[in-house]
Amino acid sequence: MTAALQQEILKAVLRALLGALLGWLFGQWLLGLTLGIALYLLMHLRYLAVLRRWFDAPKQVELPEPGGIWGEIFESLLTLQRRNRKRKKRLAAIVSEFQASTEALPDAAVVLGERGEIVWLNTAARTLLGLRTPQDLGQRLPNLIRHPAFTEYFTQGEYEGEVEAPSPIHAQLTLAYRIVPYGNGQRLLVARDVSEMRRLELVRRDFVANASHELRTPLTVLRGYLDMMGADAGSGPLASWRGPIEDMRAQAQRMESLINDMLKLARLEADSPMTRQDLVDVPGLLRRVVDDARALSKGEHRFETEIQPELFLLGREAELQSVFSNLVANAVHYTPSGGVIRVRWKADGEGAQFSVADTGIGIAEKDIARLTERFYRVDIGRSRASGGTGLGLSIVKHALERHDGRLRIDSELGVGSTFSCQFPLHRVQQGPVVQEKIALS
Ligand code: ADP
Repeated sequence: MTAALQQEILKAVLRALLGALLGWLFGQWLLGLTLGIALYLLMHLRYLAVLRRWFDAPKQVELPEPGGIWGEIFESLLTLQRRNRKRKKRLAAIVSEFQASTEALPDAAVVLGERGEIVWLNTAARTLLGLRTPQDLGQRLPNLIRHPAFTEYFTQGEYEGEVEAPSPIHAQLTLAYRIVPYGNGQRLLVARDVSEMRRLELVRRDFVANASHELRTPLTVLRGYLDMMGADAGSGPLASWRGPIEDMRAQAQRMESLINDMLKLARLEADSPMTRQDLVDVPGLLRRVVDDARALSKGEHRFETEIQPELFLLGREAELQSVFSNLVANAVHYTPSGGVIRVRWKADGEGAQFSVADTGIGIAEKDIARLTERFYRVDIGRSRASGGTGLGLSIVKHALERHDGRLRIDSELGVGSTFSCQFPLHRVQQGPVVQEKIALS
């Protein structure tokens, strides 16, 4: 109990006693006691009324300084009020600083409420997304940005990564949208202008594709002459040039593989999204890929296959062939003679999985993450010796992405590697024979 409260109790008792004493002098001690208590209560009621008025209008009503318990209460309230005012000022300064800095951002920023309604937006949101204040405040964002890719990203609610879609007001602007959830069901949308980046990528892609295409014709001519010279080099005046001619033929062949791979990659990049899809007979395709790999291996490796029949994929046959043959050929190239190569194709809970496991040289952990980069090779000499271009796994990655697939690499140095491709359920189809059987049963 505080000292003021003790004093207050004492004051109440003294007032009651004083009242009773005065009343007793007039022969009415009970009336005196009641009046003493009533006067005391009246004083409290007066301060309560002041307090009530102060709560309603703290700026207009001034709190008195009566001392005692009420003095203490009023003093504490005033201190609390002063502290709150200071905090409010500080918060207002932080908020306006935040708003000023986000206003200056070149990226559009939109704060969304629980239902996806617009709460606040910056200047870039006006220029990039065409949003208006105050008209669009309170409107649901998906009603204003109606591109299907954005709508899907907004509604799926996981907000992993970002999605690219044209600006709702300038079709030529490509924006990368990202949503960041925070607080209590709130979300922040950030949209970045990536048009220039995409344009440069297009220029680079076109340049690589055109340069590769242009190099093809002169190289075909050179190869033609080199092949003719190679055929004549067994005897006659070219006999002494046999070695150099063979070297030149090998290098020309390497250049041809490189150009072919670069064109393949450029085509994969330029050709999205997939417009035409076929029902690809993967088991048949894999049998051909394994036959080619056997020929490449020249009997140096043992092949084991486990291929589920009638498990087909929706996609492009040529691209899927690139995926499977690159991975199986790599297993041959990077597995020493006597090794085992296992090729599997089977359905699983998530869809279907292709995997090729070898007992080869393996890959160090630090290299695994970089393998799908263009021209990344762990051992350049070895890759060249096997006729590799360093583009195989980039082609695999791109072709897989176009089939909504994922590449997984597990490897241990000196033990072997497993490359697995996971295809989602919506790409997997039962082959026509099984479909017919189901229809008949
Ligand atoms: P390359 O034409 O050099 O084979 P890839 O893109 O196909 O290019 O592969 C990139 C690199 O990954 C290869 O140079 C090699 O170092 C490594 N690699 C790929 N497959 C295997 C494998 N099965 N075992 C060991 N290393 C591999």
